[in-house]
Amino acid sequence: MNDIRIPDAIKPVDGRFGCGPSKVRPEGVEALSAVSRTFMGTSHRQKTVKEQVARLRRGLADFFSLPEGYEVVLANGGTSAFWEVATFGLVRQKAQFAEFGEFGAKFAQAVTDAPFLAEPTVHKAPGGQAAFLTAEAGVDVYASVHNETSTGVAVPVRRVAGADEGALVLTDATSGGGSLDVDLRETDVYYLAPQKALGSDGGIWLALMSPAAIERAYEIKATKRYIPQFLDLVTAVEQSRLEQTYNTPALATVFLAAEQLDWMNAQGGLPWAVKRSAESAAAVYGWADRSSFATPFVTDPALRSAAVATIDFADGVDATAIAKVLRANDIVDTEPYRKLGRNQLRIALYPTVDPTDVVALTTCIDWVVERL
Ligand SMILES: *Cc1c(COP(=O)(O)O)cnc(C)c1O
Repeated sequence: MNDIRIPDAIKPVDGRFGCGPSKVRPEGVEALSAVSRTFMGTSHRQKTVKEQVARLRRGLADFFSLPEGYEVVLANGGTSAFWEVATFGLVRQKAQFAEFGEFGAKFAQAVTDAPFLAEPTVHKAPGGQAAFLTAEAGVDVYASVHNETSTGVAVPVRRVAGADEGALVLTDATSGGGSLDVDLRETDVYYLAPQKALGSDGGIWLALMSPAAIERAYEIKATKRYIPQFLDLVTAVEQSRLEQTYNTPALATVFLAAEQLDWMNAQGGLPWAVKRSAESAAAVYGWADRSSFATPFVTDPALRSAAVATIDFADGVDATAIAKVLRANDIVDTEPYRKLGRNQLRIALYPTVDPTDVVALTTCIDWVVERL
């Protein structure tokens, strides 16, 4: 099986289809290389690095058309760290979760485990379907996921009609942010990490926060709740305003993310990115619809993600074997989310990925299946 050689003529130009870490543009890495002696290995408290943090914050504000009063906040630890930050610094008493995959479940678990918070309400849906938020008296934080990376289900970002006055909406946009359309006025915290749709590297979290969310962080801090310093959201807000982070960030990650946002903004910003991801989505779902052995895992077309495609394979066509052959041919990370346990391939449709490469990937899959 490992001897199967896919002809170069049908292979994608870039073989990286992973959902995170995802493809980083070679141009970004070249730009990083060009500043290797002046930026890398220099103090994050000095102008050279602070200018890159500022460029990243500006790039995000432009890209997402940051509404009046919203702020771009960042700190270390990726999205997983942000869940803990939000548990300590944004949930006043009771949260409600829409959980429809592994990532939503992890945040819900963090809040469930917090001894100083009430038991959250969790609306769950099985893999491939979506769960939604509903108005509930006493809930002060509503949390959902824009795109569930583990299953390839995407939902619109919307406020909860009938929610208590002042209740916050938190949206995990780690993989959806940058691929899917959003109006930030529909959420209070749109948080993400740079190694997915933003096509940079991991290690930091980015949060686009409304004035109400920032106010909530100050309000909770004033209650003297114990908050570990590293997870203190007020510190993150204040450091971000100074174009810094509480502790040392990965400088390469900051630079690559800033570079990538400048590139995406130059291409036409979020509308361009959404269109490009939609083009890749149309290619892969269209191929699956025509295929005799491949079907989209998400049966409701309205929930099918344009950021991450999950494709099931018929009995007798071994997706694991396909992924292995692809990998041996430098087409990598098409394996499904482990815990989903399906005969499936998962393909990133982020704007960094060229839609023509997605088409080439489907051609390669057909070619491999014929030969297995
Ligand atoms: C990848 C991912 C995370 C985790 O991000 P880390 O930066 O690795 O902590 C959280 N939520 C979603 C939706 C993701 O895709």
